[in-house]
Amino acid sequence: MSNPAIAANGLRKSYGDKKVLDGIDLTVPEGTIFSLLGPNGAGKTTVVKILSTLITADAGAAHVGGHDLAAAPQAVRAAIGVTGQFSAVDGLITGEENMLLMADLHHLPKAEGRRVTAELLARFDLTEAAGKPASTYSGGMKRRLDIAMTLVGNPRIIFLDEPTTGLDPRSRHNMWQIIRELVTGGVTVFLTTQYLEEADQLADRIAVLHNGRIAAEGTAEELKRLVPGGHVRLRFTDPDTYRSAATALTHATPDDETQTLQIPSDGTQRELRSILDWLDSLGIEADELTVHTPDLDDVFFALTSTGNAIPDQTKENVR
Ligand code: ADP
Repeated sequence: MSNPAIAANGLRKSYGDKKVLDGIDLTVPEGTIFSLLGPNGAGKTTVVKILSTLITADAGAAHVGGHDLAAAPQAVRAAIGVTGQFSAVDGLITGEENMLLMADLHHLPKAEGRRVTAELLARFDLTEAAGKPASTYSGGMKRRLDIAMTLVGNPRIIFLDEPTTGLDPRSRHNMWQIIRELVTGGVTVFLTTQYLEEADQLADRIAVLHNGRIAAEGTAEELKRLVPGGHVRLRFTDPDTYRSAATALTHATPDDETQTLQIPSDGTQRELRSILDWLDSLGIEADELTVHTPDLDDVFFALTSTGNAIPDQTKENVR
């Protein structure tokens, strides 16, 4: 396996008495999307700021793009791009001027700067708006310009800090598409988000940040398997069939109003097969059978509710 794009160990950060990060370990393989998921104030931006050399951690170490954060911050900066809450877009000048300024900052020769600018503006659907002041852009256009500006430096690792917060659904889907395309091009994306659906849609791996620690880490599927709540639901139209099934299936939870029976299940193929075999052996035929697996919402609430519903043993298995 090649070196990870990002590897962090024991990152800690406090502001005064307030402990924001209490020992964070992260590994992000190259060419993948990693999502740090947490509510507002969880410390996501703090992690991004540390890993992008904007602030230093109180303790811990990290390598980004193969470079040690403390020993070679310049090399880290050369390997990364950062966009998000602290946007680099200057509203007073045009989108194109913002891009050309970025090209200058990266010391691109004039002609090369113009070529890259035109190419990126076209790629992010901003050619038409290129001559207008960026302050007139919509939220989605500003985010696109921000990413385009980041790409001028051709970074291999991109930090996107809440890239879709405040965007309308169409712009959000648009941004998701852009993020997917970045990764197809070989870039590693470190994405922070408050949206479970976003992490579910995009991320190869997800880490849930809670109380300054990583409460759980894994693929969306692995995380979903952490919480109970998966079940198979059988619906019956005929009251007699429903009643006899309810009598036979003693460990199913009946709902008389909807004439459904709910059987606990992890949703795996093997379990489904055994449930179906068992229904056959009892001669029960439901009119509708649906499989429900827990979603990331269930996981998130289980992890972040006080009392932590997930046993530590299970957590270890997933990490
Ligand atoms: P998130 O990005 O998950 O919303 P942040 O990393 O921005 O969270 O902030 C985590 C916590 O650290 C918050 O409680 C915030 O108020 C606090 N914090 C962040 N930056 C500073 C700072 N410069 N001084 C004091 N407290 C800060």
